Amino acid sequence: MKRIGVLTSGGDAPGMNAAIRAVVLTAAAAELEVIGFEYGFNGVLEQQYFSLTPHHVNHLIQHGGTLLKSARCQAMFSDDGVRQIAAVLHELAIDALVLIGGDGTFRGAMALSQYYQGKLIGVPGTIDNDVDGTDFTIGFHTALDTALDAIDKIRDTADAFERIFLVEVMGRHTGYLAVAAGIAAGAEQIICPELAAELDTDKILQHIRSAQQYRGRCSYIIVVAETMYPGGASALAAELERQGVDCRASVLGHIQRGGRPVGADRILATKLAAYAVEQLLQGAHLVMAGEVNGEAVLYPLAKTGDKQKQVDPYLLAWQQRVAQY
Ligand code: ATP
Repeated sequence: MKRIGVLTSGGDAPGMNAAIRAVVLTAAAAELEVIGFEYGFNGVLEQQYFSLTPHHVNHLIQHGGTLLKSARCQAMFSDDGVRQIAAVLHELAIDALVLIGGDGTFRGAMALSQYYQGKLIGVPGTIDNDVDGTDFTIGFHTALDTALDAIDKIRDTADAFERIFLVEVMGRHTGYLAVAAGIAAGAEQIICPELAAELDTDKILQHIRSAQQYRGRCSYIIVVAETMYPGGASALAAELERQGVDCRASVLGHIQRGGRPVGADRILATKLAAYAVEQLLQGAHLVMAGEVNGEAVLYPLAKTGDKQKQVDPYLLAWQQRVAQY
């Protein structure tokens, strides 16, 4: 193996830069050349790439975002597009490709494996923590702290006016971040796909009223995962208002993707990316580097989207039992 490629794809996540750095440094120590493709799979298709050296990753570990940029790539959804991307990788003599992204990116890797002869390895980078085969994904811990910081601030103003707030947290198909942020912020309610497939406004109102009966007028925070209600938290707040409950909405949005990665994400990114390159050298292919119970592991890329990850069920049950008191 002489030359490997690396790209970041899908939603960006704090710690992706730390992962790029670890790929480059580990490769340099093994005398491998690294080609960095920009804008995810688009950078392969459009041949937007550069040779990545340790010089490029100096003092990169502390920065959010991704040096390689990220993007969604429509061409990956057509057979023709996938063939073209594989052809560019062959043309550039890329012996292996490291893909830093979420389960969508890994489905892309599986599609690519039909035409690309080199090795493919994944590194889980997404704030959603919705990738199977690793306890945590790179970026989750930073996004959680960012969401918490915001919710704590909302709590201060909610307390001052004894207001009800809906706080919308990211997570397109999963509520892991919403549940974790809700529990850590002491939210009164958490609404996410794992707890209820369908949002039930009657239940929400019932819970608010029983909390108010028990506590009197008080601040009340509902953390809601995005996509749980058409139009998001603002539309849901308007609906609750129509039903007689005065309520404010706050959409945390893209701040959750940005910021300096926290220590846990820098360490996880460094470990998983280094492990990915080392395992490539040992012949690993179509696997993701993950961490389970503190141990670096390899997990089949094809299974990374299989299971919905649950936040500690004990904590969840407890939260639901006590929230109105
Ligand atoms: P995040 O969940 O954080 O946004 P992700 O990697 O899951 O990260 P996606 O937008 O789902 O993000 O996927 C990123 C890219 O991977 C897509 O734009 C597309 O190029 C490729 N991809 C996703 N799913 C497939 C698929 N089924 N077949 C081929 N390529 C895919």
